[in-house]
Amino acid sequence: MLIIDFHTHAFPDEIAERAIRKLEKNSQVKAFLDGKLDSLINSMDRNGIEKSVLCNIATKPEQFNSIIKWSEKIRSERIIPLPSIHPEDRDIKEKVKFIKSVGFHGIKMHPFYQNFSIDDPKIYPLYESLIENDLFILMHCGYDIAFPEWDIASPKRIINLLNKFPELRFVSTHFGAWKQWDEVEKFMIGKNILMEISFSFGWLPDEKIRQLILKHPSDYILFGTDSPWADQGREIENLKKLALPEELMEKIFYGNARRLLQWS
Ligand SMILES: [Zn+2]
Repeated sequence: MLIIDFHTHAFPDEIAERAIRKLEKNSQVKAFLDGKLDSLINSMDRNGIEKSVLCNIATKPEQFNSIIKWSEKIRSERIIPLPSIHPEDRDIKEKVKFIKSVGFHGIKMHPFYQNFSIDDPKIYPLYESLIENDLFILMHCGYDIAFPEWDIASPKRIINLLNKFPELRFVSTHFGAWKQWDEVEKFMIGKNILMEISFSFGWLPDEKIRQLILKHPSDYILFGTDSPWADQGREIENLKKLALPEELMEKIFYGNARRLLQWS
């Protein structure tokens, strides 16, 4: 089976060790890899993963250029980097246009590390630019393991946002919203909202995950691991053991991601 992992992270070699150590300390989660790109690619090879979408997070506006540089350096047949824009960047429209012009597919944003609420009108210009430039946004959704349970990326806010911007190509992460799955079930499941499913196995019972997947439109679920914060091989096994219909598995592991990345 062909596999695309729609949510991974890696760092430039010279900062990987420091970054992983800091993130491990904040989240109390042990990384499965050392955060370097080679380690991610080795993990993909071991586990038969064709492509990984690699997420960046700009925690300050000034990081834009270095993220672009690194993303351009590492992009390949196997690695699809998503740059990131800080919400306080003064030139959001230009930055989005630039990202499109150099051929990236979308951006990654993280409300907890970038200090915003998903449906805050202050960042509407970002969403408008993404629509204008036909880029998707992969958004951290739900609570974050390294932070208090702030209501900034909840299913209700996601729905507010999507009501306001129905054309936005929005990809939610962590099966709708991490640790807010009652609300996900109430407000998001069954709607045409893309959901990447990392960090749900082990947090929700397998049977619940299976039910939610089967209640959601089959074209709107994406396999993702959040590697290095989970083991790609283990997550593949977790999904396979749900024994979903073959055709649905193919869509989740590959077909839906491929469509989103617009390959012919
Ligand atoms: Zn992540």
